[in-house]
Amino acid sequence: MELAEFYEIEGLRRQAIISGNSELADQYSYELYQKTCHLPHLVFLNSFAMPEVLQTHISQSLINDIALIHPDETHQEVDQAENFYRSYVERLLNVDLSKVEILRAAGNFKHAEGRAVTCRATDHLVILPPRGEEYVSPDLLIHELGHTAEYTLRRASNDIEMLRSHLLFSEAIAHFCQYKYMVEFGTRTERLHALASVTKNHMLLRALRAHRELRDQPANFQVSRIIDHEYLDVYRAAYTKDRIEWLLEDYEGRSFIELYFTEAEPRMGAVLALQVMHNGAAIRELCLMKTNQPVREMLDNLNLKTEELMDFTQADALFRKFVEGTI
Ligand SMILES: [Zn+2]
Repeated sequence: MELAEFYEIEGLRRQAIISGNSELADQYSYELYQKTCHLPHLVFLNSFAMPEVLQTHISQSLINDIALIHPDETHQEVDQAENFYRSYVERLLNVDLSKVEILRAAGNFKHAEGRAVTCRATDHLVILPPRGEEYVSPDLLIHELGHTAEYTLRRASNDIEMLRSHLLFSEAIAHFCQYKYMVEFGTRTERLHALASVTKNHMLLRALRAHRELRDQPANFQVSRIIDHEYLDVYRAAYTKDRIEWLLEDYEGRSFIELYFTEAEPRMGAVLALQVMHNGAAIRELCLMKTNQPVREMLDNLNLKTEELMDFTQADALFRKFVEGTI
């Protein structure tokens, strides 16, 4: 498939999203996937970080502190003009985001999340929940703009081999922007609250490990199977069982493989982001890297200490520093 054809379908998807036709937009997404999933330079087999990510350590005390935050304490709406946030990310990664459109659209935003969607070289979209329906915190907008910064840098060369992001690194890039902003402008409570999305995925990682230990077949997620497993002890000590069930219900019935690769591992890019907080150049390098190679080779290209970057047992210490604003 030619780049021009790919960009054309993305343009059609963009129009569908802007006109509110999410069903048509999903059809275009599927078409894009089908046309590219077999291309060798766009496939990144072997490029997962499973053993290291499964070692992600988050302590009971940090989980308790996050669980004790009441969402009302951090109920901070996007308060500046959108361009304030856009400029922040532009400066951070030295990229022009003037063509990126930020729009509000209805959708499934149960956990108050936004979404970034690629379109051609520069015309990406940030989709946020409608005003008044869900609150949008500034750091969430910064996170999604961070994704569009990656897409813009990645596509500046108009090279078809550069089209695809690597989910773990994509999240590292977006979290880098988000966490930089929060250390500069956020409060300690807001930073703790921001980690709730990470602990949710950490809970998922532990639940997947529990399923693996139980040798569950078929390989589909079942909350009732793992809710009492010892791997979730740290969460049962901090949350009610009802709350854990509510947090995990999105995953019910989905395959372990899909959950690991599309949900659990990517979010742990937050740990990588904190490993390179003082190195915007490394983050920019990640935006420009071809993703059809193993994770370790990609990290080796950064000329940093790959072993340290891949040490997910450091997660707890890094998150603590982030919360205290001392990272
Ligand atoms: Zn993200």
